[in-house]
Amino acid sequence: LRTLPADEIAPHAFRMLSSRACELLAIDDAVVLGHGYLGNELLLAQSGEHLVSPLAQAALVARGIVRIHAQNREPVQLWIDGARISDDPHAPRYAIGPMRLPAPAWAALVVPVRTAEGLSTEEQLALVELARIAVMHAEAAHAAIQLRRTAEHDALTGCLNRRSLDQSLAREFQMPVEQSPLSVLFIDIDWFKRINDNFGHACGDQCLRSLAATLRAELRPTDVLGRYGGEEFLVLLPGHDGAASRLIAERLRQAVEHSVIEWQGMQVKLTISIGMAARRGEDADAPALLERADKALYLAKHEGRNCVRVAPAYSG
Ligand code: GH3
Ligand code: MG
Ligand code: MG
Repeated sequence: LRTLPADEIAPHAFRMLSSRACELLAIDDAVVLGHGYLGNELLLAQSGEHLVSPLAQAALVARGIVRIHAQNREPVQLWIDGARISDDPHAPRYAIGPMRLPAPAWAALVVPVRTAEGLSTEEQLALVELARIAVMHAEAAHAAIQLRRTAEHDALTGCLNRRSLDQSLAREFQMPVEQSPLSVLFIDIDWFKRINDNFGHACGDQCLRSLAATLRAELRPTDVLGRYGGEEFLVLLPGHDGAASRLIAERLRQAVEHSVIEWQGMQVKLTISIGMAARRGEDADAPALLERADKALYLAKHEGRNCVRVAPAYSG
């Protein structure tokens, strides 16, 4: 579960729960119906491969009944006719096992009851226990993912932190450059100290958040954006050579130049300087590449700021 995207944890855990419920009761379908849990609006997890199984359809139609019993503590066995509880013993019968989720989320395990005597108390308790274990695993996986997110991301801007950037770079360098072209952009805000001095530190923080969002919006999902420190950001452009990366850097620079940051009724503007370096065979390791990008950034600062400069090749 921990390897899944956060919003897939609950559907996956509850699909497994449905399958286990089927094994336990020797039935061919069981579903979990719920709402508002771990990033899922509607949750419908079924044991089988159907697009939406007949049992899942029945549970959806009877959603109001399932919800009410999901919020109860005890499992129930009911005859249900469409969306209503029925007193006709020929109507289909279902057991609804509530699952303990943090309110306002709710979910219940729904299984068909085919025998006249219904599920035994032991069977119902076993279902409740299975459901408890599924929720426990979903919660633990979600907590682990949250923890990993916190460790990998910068708290202020939400983009990657320096440690993750260094790890991504090191991974890139495990492959030879011919198989894995890469460019890096070292980005530094121009005259940022003045923003803090003129508008206050909180405004500076807002500028950092806004800059990260502007940069992110211009990049592909496979590009890596992180805050390297203070007011410095790093972009990794895997699969891009120097010429393409230079265009991207120029696009980023212009996007920032044209964006306006609203702060307490004022409009604050920023520019950035960018040093770009494309990975070469001569770059022994990631720090060597970063050092070239840093030198290019230094040039950009010296040659007037609000511009892109490219790291020269190695001389000699
Ligand atoms: P230059 O164009 O040469 O880069 O000028 P600069 O003013 O941007 O450079 P300098 O290195 O002198 O100042 C960087 C400023 O960035 C100083 C520091 O207070 C500010 N800064 C660094 N981290 C943060 C932060 O997390 N929040 C805020 N508000 N400011 C920060
Ligand atoms: Mg700086
Ligand atoms: Mg700066």
